[in-house]
Amino acid sequence: KHRIAEIASSIRVIPDFPKPGVMFQDITTLLLDPKAFGDAVELFVERYRDQRISVVAGVEARGFIFGPPIALAIGAKFVPLRKPKKLPGEVISEEYLLEYGADKIEMHVGAVQPTDRAIVIDDLIATGGTLRAAVKLLERVGAEVVECACVIELPELKGREKLGDIPLFVLVNGA
Ligand code: 5GP
Repeated sequence: KHRIAEIASSIRVIPDFPKPGVMFQDITTLLLDPKAFGDAVELFVERYRDQRISVVAGVEARGFIFGPPIALAIGAKFVPLRKPKKLPGEVISEEYLLEYGADKIEMHVGAVQPTDRAIVIDDLIATGGTLRAAVKLLERVGAEVVECACVIELPELKGREKLGDIPLFVLVNGA
């Protein structure tokens, strides 16, 4: 079976979670399938291994699942981008708007240098607000963001457009 088809079929869709009308793309079923999970990681590793990437920045929480195996395989640092008040050291933070209210992600000062070439990884891009905030954090400390990477894109929400000039690489489209 083709790797992409196998990854797509391992993702479970749960209707009306966490609220009515949402078709939640659940990657925990992909994690139960070592072949599909391994192939997902491998597709990212194949793409980034020869690009002199020095930082893989993962967005809490599911970017912490896909990011570390990719970072180890390509010899890059893994940098967690966390929800507010989780990181113990000095942080910089970036706020972004949600449908109702706002959210924030934070990064440790000193984790990323101006000489770094980074990718940002998360499981899914919906409106793109989360990844855009992540890109801003890295750019504020002078790093070059080479690309954003996700397992799943919901193309109707046009999150890709929010990333401006930063390319987005995805494995599958969500329903
Ligand atoms: P955005 O900021 O692009 O609107 O939302 C993306 C963020 O919300 C990601 O961190 C992602 O993990 C989470 N998210 C939103 N919808 C879903 C979904 O259907 N499935 C999963 N796994 N995550 C989602």
